Amino acid sequence: MGPQDRAARVLEDLRILARESAERAGLTRGERSPVEALVVPLVVSLDRDGVSRGSLREADRLVRDIAARVDEALRGAGAFHPGRVHCFQCDASDCPHGVPGSPTETFAGWVATGKPEWIDFANLLLERGDPRVDRLYAPSPEVVAIAMRGRDLHGRLLGAIGRDRSFAVLGQVAAGLIPGDFGAGRGPEARVALTLQVIETRFAGGGRRLRLNLLGTTLDEVSAASEGGGGRGSAERLRRLIILARERLDLLGRAAAVAERRGRPLDLEAQAEPLLLHLRTELERVFRDAGHRTRHAVERHLDGGRPTDTALVDARRAPVERLRYDEQRKTVVVLGPRGRAHVFSPDGRHVTSLSLGPAEAERKGGQHRWRPLTGPEADDFRKAIAEHPCAKGRPIPS
Ligand SMILES: [Zn+2]
Repeated sequence: MGPQDRAARVLEDLRILARESAERAGLTRGERSPVEALVVPLVVSLDRDGVSRGSLREADRLVRDIAARVDEALRGAGAFHPGRVHCFQCDASDCPHGVPGSPTETFAGWVATGKPEWIDFANLLLERGDPRVDRLYAPSPEVVAIAMRGRDLHGRLLGAIGRDRSFAVLGQVAAGLIPGDFGAGRGPEARVALTLQVIETRFAGGGRRLRLNLLGTTLDEVSAASEGGGGRGSAERLRRLIILARERLDLLGRAAAVAERRGRPLDLEAQAEPLLLHLRTELERVFRDAGHRTRHAVERHLDGGRPTDTALVDARRAPVERLRYDEQRKTVVVLGPRGRAHVFSPDGRHVTSLSLGPAEAERKGGQHRWRPLTGPEADDFRKAIAEHPCAKGRPIPS
C-alpha cells in the first residue's frame, strides 16, 4: 500500500467518524451537512509500533474532539439540535431556555421576547379547559394526547422575531403522562410528557428541512426500551410510530422542495396537520394498554398521604381571595403557597394538585377563567371539604 492509499484510508475513516458525530448532533441520514469540512489536529507518534496505551488515549481524545468540533460547526451554521427548542431571545438552541425544566413539561410556545415557554402537561390541559385532566391522576391513569398548531405556538412572538423561519414549529402533539419506561412494567417509575414536533429549519446557507423533534425522550431511549419486547409492547409501537412520522416528513419535505422550485410553495403547516392528527390518535392508542401497569405506582402517589394532606391544609388555610371557581370545569381551585394549586370538586373531593408559576396564575386570572369565590360560596366549600370522606379521620397536620 502506497503512502497516498494509506492516507486516503485514514481520511475515509475520519470522515465516517465525523459524519457519525454529525448525525448524533442532529443531521439526518443522507442530509447534506451545512458545514463542508472540519479541521482536526492530530497527534502522531514517531516512535512506537502498534497500539499502545498512549495511542488509545489519543484515540479517545480524537473522538471527543471531533464530536465537539462538529457540534460547534453545526451550531455556527444554525443547525438543529434534537430534543431542544430554539430560543430566539438568545438566538441559540443550547441556552438553558431550550429544554423543559422538568420531565412533565411540554413546549407552550414562545413568549413575546422569543424565549420558549414550558408548561406542566396537567396545567396545559387545565388551561385549555380539557376535561381529561382527571384521567392523568385517575386510579388507572390514561395517556392523553393533544395536537397544537404552529401558528398558536408562534403567536406571541413580537415583530420580526423568528420571521426568517430559521426554526419553526409547524405543529406538535403533546402526550402525557407516559410511563418513563414506556409501559414495560418494570416497576414504579416517573411519568413524563412526550412531545413530537414537526420542525422546519433553515440553515444559514438557505437549505430548508422538515424534521421530527422529540421532547421528553430520544429515539435511542425508545429503541433501547423496545428491545426484548419481541416486536410488541408500547416502546416498540412508539418506535415504529416515530420512524413512520420521520419517513412521512421526508416525503413531505421533498414534495415541498419540488413545489417551491415550480414557484408554488406548499402551505406546510396545513400539509403537516394530517400527520399530527394521526400521531395524536396513535399515541393515545399505543399507551392505552400500558395504563393498567402504572396503576400501582400512581395509587401509591395518591395514598401516600402527602398530596391530599397538603391540599387539605392549603384549602383550610386559604383566605377567601385565594379560592377561585373554574367556570369551565366547575371546580374550586385553591391557590396555595409557593405556586401550589389544588383542584377540588364542589362537593369537596380532591381532584388533583398542580404547581403553577406566578405568571401562569396571573394569566388565568386575567382571562377570567378562574373567578374569585363569593363569601357564601367559600363557606360552602369549607364545609364541604370538612365533611368529605377524604378529609374525615385524617389528622390535620399543623
Ligand atoms: Zn435562551
